[in-house]
Amino acid sequence: MTSGFKYSDTNKRYHTYGYYIRKRFGRRVFRAAMDIGAGCPNRCGECGCGGCLFCSDGSIPRGRFTGIPSEQLDEIYAKACEATGLKAEGAPFIPYLQAGSNTYGDIKAFEAVYRRLLSFQNAVGLCVATRADCIDEAYADLFAELSEKTYLTVELGLQTIYDETALACGRGHDLSRFMQGYELLQSRGVNVGVHIINGLPNETADMMRGTARFVGKLRPHCVKIHNLYFETDTAISEMLMRGEVRAMELDEYVGIICDQIELMPPETVIARLTGDADRRKIIAPEWSLHKLPVLNEIDKELARRGSFQGDKYGK
Ligand code: SF4
Repeated sequence: MTSGFKYSDTNKRYHTYGYYIRKRFGRRVFRAAMDIGAGCPNRCGECGCGGCLFCSDGSIPRGRFTGIPSEQLDEIYAKACEATGLKAEGAPFIPYLQAGSNTYGDIKAFEAVYRRLLSFQNAVGLCVATRADCIDEAYADLFAELSEKTYLTVELGLQTIYDETALACGRGHDLSRFMQGYELLQSRGVNVGVHIINGLPNETADMMRGTARFVGKLRPHCVKIHNLYFETDTAISEMLMRGEVRAMELDEYVGIICDQIELMPPETVIARLTGDADRRKIIAPEWSLHKLPVLNEIDKELARRGSFQGDKYGK
């Protein structure tokens, strides 16, 4: 059964990453998440120490990236591909530099990593996660050049548009700085992904909808949205233990996510609606361990409303 949504050939009422990839490549392509040892200005004292409240590695200081031996990078890539569970020779992958801020450091060192990853026969694109305050003209020019040759996405952590929340979470930069980085990329035609987190401390449902409304109007290539989850050894988990924050309930999350999907333009790809935390580390909420039931609830709620992605875009 198809939903009738323009960018779907299943029951989905929103533009899934899986659909986008199948249309673009004619088959499934997995993203291979990798940690090449990139640092973060928010973990080495440049704009903060200890990282964002929810950062699982925040207590491990990591400075500017200076490079990685190619044999080590090859090994990391091979392991990341294997971890997807698809080990078939020649299966296409998109290397995903997920951990840390993958533009924080020597641009030549990062450029060597990007180009080496793209040189692998089965790499059909590249996804680079970073912070907007680590994007300057030189990085934006490099990404524009790479975008002409491959399917490149630069994923920027925004989490929220509200500076008071960002400050409380220790994000280390404000919305105007986010917009500078975003526009450097967008103006050059680089695909930008925006990462949003629902349920941050003191955020109301209206604020979460406000973030989605704002991001939708930016017309990003894709968005990744998930709830705030609590992992062991994070500052936010200590706040949970002290009763200073709470975990969202599933029905609350589903309602807000559906509102946010309605606020996104139809062409924006919804790269994720659930978190991808390490299952062994999650303390709460329990429901976030089970992604499929969460996605099913979102499908059911959109069907109940009779609504699709984009129905409230611009409103
Ligand atoms: S920006 Fe990312 S890597 Fe840096 S502290 Fe925040 S969550 Fe951690």
